[in-house]
This record gives sequence, structure tokens and C-alpha cells, in this order.
Amino acid sequence: MTIFDKIINKEIPAQIVFEDEKCLAFRDINPQAPVHVLLIPKRPIPTMNDVQPSDAELMGYLMVKAPEIAKQLGVAEKGYRLVINTNAHAGQTVSHIHIHIIGGRALSWPPG
Ligand code: 5GP
Repeated sequence: MTIFDKIINKEIPAQIVFEDEKCLAFRDINPQAPVHVLLIPKRPIPTMNDVQPSDAELMGYLMVKAPEIAKQLGVAEKGYRLVINTNAHAGQTVSHIHIHIIGGRALSWPPG
């Protein structure tokens, strides 16, 4: 159980930008760019290391939804970044897979 389960269950508020039966997208509480949304599966998977072959459909679904949400938020044409942090070296702080959708300004590369 993480804070994201509480957001899914509407026990704590979030600025939701998209929701369906499989996933939820909401604005990051500490945005790193003008657009910073987290796209999560409603079924919790702790990290990318826990993804199983049986999760392929769900993970693929998220990859279809991410660009749709980027279009909805108006960042698709100029560009955006999708990020999935995994474990300590990547700075993962919530053990429920989340895709960061980041855009609205030019982003530096490589990451620090
Ligand atoms: P991570 O570092 O695990 O890749 O990303 C976790 C993200 O979740 C962070 O960017 C953080 O700002 C965001 N976050 C943590 N708690 C909350 C919360 O309660 N509400 C929202 N909207 N975002 C949160």
C-alpha cells in the first residue's frame, strides 16, 4: 500500500487529468516542469523489476495512454519525456510503478 493507492481510492486529493478502469494520471505534487503528470496502473506493481510477462498488456496499455495524455495536455507536438525511475540509484520514492510525463519546456539531456 502506497500513497498512490490512496489517490486511486480518492482518500487523498489529486489533480486528475485522466482516469479509466486500468489507469490514473494526475499532476505531480512537486512539478519539475510546467507539465508534470504521473501515469500509474491501478493495479500496483512496485517497480519495473517486478514486471512479469503477464503484465505485458497492462504495460503496453500505459504506453498507448501516455502519448494520448501528452496530446491532451498540449505538449505532444513540441515534445515531452517519459521517465520510469527504478529503485534507489534512479531516485524512486514511491513503490508503485509510475510513468512521469514531463514537458512544457526544453529538457536537458543527459539527466544528472
Ligand atoms: P519517483 O521519485 O518515485 O520517480 O516519483 C515519485 C513522484 O511522486 C515524485 O515526483 C513526487 O513529487 C510525487 N508524489 C509523491 N507524493 C505525492 C502525492 O501525494 N501526490 C502527488 N500528486 N504526487 C506525489
